[in-house]
Amino acid sequence: MTGDPKQLSCAEFQAQLPELIGAGGDPSTHPHLQHCPLCRALLSDLETIAEAARKLFPSVEPPDELWEQIESAIKREEEQEIHSR
Ligand SMILES: [Zn+2]
Repeated sequence: MTGDPKQLSCAEFQAQLPELIGAGGDPSTHPHLQHCPLCRALLSDLETIAEAARKLFPSVEPPDELWEQIESAIKREEEQEIHSR
């Protein structure tokens, strides 16, 4: 741990992602994304999911449980990737 945001691992970055999005910021400007196409692809997936959620629930903010579901979906995907190697 150096405290330098450029040194974040993908897992660390992804753990922060819901907060970055939830805070109303623009996660696409995060330094980690400047050198990590994997997380850029993940972010665009998340934005697609968030967009779909906003269409389903146009008048409410996505509940915390939604982010938890997204996070656990990401973790399941990662586990599947590990097992398929
Ligand atoms: Zn990454």
